[in-house]
Amino acid sequence: MSSDQIGQTSVIDGAALQGLLDALAAQGYTVIAPVARDGAIGLEPISGIGDLPRGWTDVQAPGRYRLERDHCDPGTYFGTTVGPQSWKRFLHPPRQVLWTARRQDDGDFVVSSPGAAGTTDRHGDTESSRQAFLGVRACELHAIAIQDRVFEDGPFPDVGYAARRATTFLIAVQCGQAAETCFCAAMKTGPAIASGFDLLLTEFPARSEFLAEAGSARGAALLAKVARRPATEDDHATARAAVARAAAMQTRTIDTTRIRERLQDQPQHPQWESVGDRCLTCGNCTMVCPTCFCTAVSDGSDLSGETAWRVREWDSCFTLSFSHLHGGSVRRTNAARYRQWMTHKLANWVDQFGTGGCVGCGRCITWCPVGIDITEVAGVFTAAEDA
Ligand code: SF4
Ligand code: SF4
Repeated sequence: MSSDQIGQTSVIDGAALQGLLDALAAQGYTVIAPVARDGAIGLEPISGIGDLPRGWTDVQAPGRYRLERDHCDPGTYFGTTVGPQSWKRFLHPPRQVLWTARRQDDGDFVVSSPGAAGTTDRHGDTESSRQAFLGVRACELHAIAIQDRVFEDGPFPDVGYAARRATTFLIAVQCGQAAETCFCAAMKTGPAIASGFDLLLTEFPARSEFLAEAGSARGAALLAKVARRPATEDDHATARAAVARAAAMQTRTIDTTRIRERLQDQPQHPQWESVGDRCLTCGNCTMVCPTCFCTAVSDGSDLSGETAWRVREWDSCFTLSFSHLHGGSVRRTNAARYRQWMTHKLANWVDQFGTGGCVGCGRCITWCPVGIDITEVAGVFTAAEDA
C-alpha cells in the first residue's frame, strides 16, 4: 500500500503526533485542540502536544463537571470526553461583525465587511481561516455534518461558514471512554468513527501510541510526513476494544423510534409544565450544544457618529426576546420555551433538515445548572405512548 492512500492505517508515537502538528503549522494551519483551562476542557490554539490535557479525565453528571487526574501512567492525551465548548465556535463564531461603516473626510460612509474567507474575532478583525481541529470526537463530527446542512445546503448558504469549513482540517479521535452524560451510541453518532475526517486517531495509552488512519488525500499526505509503522491486526483489535468500552460505559439513551411524532403530537403534555417549573431559562443548553445555530442581528454606532456596524451573535430560544413579535413574545412561559427547544431538536429539525439535531454529546445535561436531562424528559414521552 502506498503512503498516500486514503484508508491507510499506521501506528505513530507521540513524537510523530508532534510531527503532524509541525507539518500543519508549516502549511499555515492554526491547530486548535483540547486544553485544561480553569478547571475544564476548553478548545484553544496549541503549539505542541505538551499543551494537550495529558493525564486528565473528566467526571460529568447532570449539573456537575470535574477534572480529575487519570490513573494511567504516563497519562492519556485524549482521556477526557467533551467539554463545554464545541468546534461550533470556530466555524460559526459566537460574534461576527457583518459590516462596518466609517465616515470619510468628505462626509460619505465607506462600508467594509470581513469577506467570505475571513473569520472575525470579537473586535471584528479578520483572522486566518486555515484551522486544524485536533481531537474531534464522533458526536462532534456528526454535529459538524449537521451544521454543514444548516449553513451550506438550501437556497441561502452562509458563505462565511462555507469558507471556514473548506479550509478546516479535521483530526478525529475515537473515544476510549464515555462520560456519564454521553449517549452517542443511542443516537447512532458514535463512539466509532467511520467517515468525515482527514485523519483519525485511536489512542493506545499504555504504550503512548496511536492508530492513525487517513480519511482524505490531504490527510494521507500529512500522515506520509511522519515516522510510522504499518498497523497490525492486533492494533486494530485494540482500537475496536477501546471503542467498545466507550459504548458499553453509556447508560443514558433516547428511544428515537417515532420520537418526532411522540413530541409533535403532545404539545399539552404535563411534562412540559413540570420541566418548565425547574428550568431557569438561562440558555446554557443552547450555548453548549454543538448543533444549535440561532443568532440575532443588531446594529450599533459609536458616540461620535463616525462608525456604525452590524453584528451577528449567538442567540437562544430560551430568551423572551427571541420570540418577540408584534405585541410581545409568543413563548412567554418557561415550559413553552423548553418545549420549543426540545421539540425542535428532536422532531422539527427532521422536517427542516432531514436529520435530528441531537448527537448525544450530553453537554446540555452536564451544563444545565439544575441538571435537567434531555434523555429523562424524552423518556417520559416514550413511556406515555407505550403505556
Ligand atoms: S441537545 Fe444536548 S446532547 Fe444533544 S447535541 Fe445538543 S447539547 Fe448535545
Ligand atoms: S434546560 Fe437547563 S440549561 Fe437549558 S435553559 Fe433551562 S435551566 Fe438553563
